[in-house]
Amino acid sequence: MDFIKPSLGVLTNPFQIRSNPKHFGLDLALPGNVSVKAAAAGTVTRSYVSDSYGEVIFIQHSINGQPYETVYAHMRKGSRKCKPGDYVKQGQVIGYMGSTGDAKGQHLHFELHRGRWNGAKTNAVNPLDYIGAIQEVPKEKKKMIILPSEAESWRVYPLDQAAVKGNEIGYLNPKKYAGLQYNIVGNPQKDVYTIVTSDFGKVNIYGALSTGVRIVNV
Ligand SMILES: [Zn+2]
Repeated sequence: MDFIKPSLGVLTNPFQIRSNPKHFGLDLALPGNVSVKAAAAGTVTRSYVSDSYGEVIFIQHSINGQPYETVYAHMRKGSRKCKPGDYVKQGQVIGYMGSTGDAKGQHLHFELHRGRWNGAKTNAVNPLDYIGAIQEVPKEKKKMIILPSEAESWRVYPLDQAAVKGNEIGYLNPKKYAGLQYNIVGNPQKDVYTIVTSDFGKVNIYGALSTGVRIVNV
């Protein structure tokens, strides 16, 4: 492979240049001691501390005569292992993932340019087209509540009252529909979930696991 993944980690922010805010690279995140590796063999062109990139290394490559340049940003303070002019092999550790510069939390910001890097980043390409797919983390983890079909009826409660017997404003009938499922839009207290129903609008439901509900990630 011409380029390999520059670090372990999950994709927390993909390459995105079609709308604002643009992101000329991708972000890989993983806590702990995570080595950053040269995605391809090449020559280090820059190794310095930038206000935005933080501790950053640039490497120039030539692959079948085509020049490329890769950027490894936000590395841990003091972890850069090479200087301009150094030749690095593919997979060689050049530093460690960190959160220096303009970074929220530890991650590697990785850019791949077909041609040389420039300030307008006009040569930036999607690294995923070169290094292969990376597992993505959903921006928000969504959950659903499933009411199994065995249940005759399920009480729902108004948002402004406790989800206890006597306060119900209606009943859902999972049996009638071979089970019902709703997106969870709130979790105001333990085992109480806010859902949106067609009959009662936005309501709360008591969903301790002992009641037979299932809570699933979607
Ligand atoms: Zn980034």
